[in-house]
Amino acid sequence: MTDASFDEIQVPTSKRVELIDITNQIEDIVRSKKIRNGLCLVYAPHATAAVIANEGESGLIQDITNKIEKDFPKNAGWLHDRIDNNASAHIASAFIGSSRTFPIQNGRLVRGTWQRIFLVELDGPRHRRRVVVEVIGN
Ligand code: ZN
Repeated sequence: MTDASFDEIQVPTSKRVELIDITNQIEDIVRSKKIRNGLCLVYAPHATAAVIANEGESGLIQDITNKIEKDFPKNAGWLHDRIDNNASAHIASAFIGSSRTFPIQNGRLVRGTWQRIFLVELDGPRHRRRVVVEVIGN
């Protein structure tokens, strides 16, 4: 018997490019499901945001933000900018990816000691970004 359930968290963002640590909210959801083994999908249903897992050290967060801004610069002649002026955010989202999936073992989300889960804002600030969390398991 396998059950699946959807939850959603909502996150405000305050910068154009920003990493927001959502690990605690995700782990609270996983814990509330009281399953032993399964999978947890973390998905941002947005064309200009992404989800990653990595260390939450402040210098590294700035390094990642800088790398995104360097690799996906604004106003670089992108065609989509003719209608929306946010092509860099779309392209970054396409390459970084809008979801990550984590194993759940013995009721806990499996991640490395230094691994945190981040929503990546790529076209902020926004009042509300949605992150869908689907937990499946038994
Ligand atoms: Zn656009």
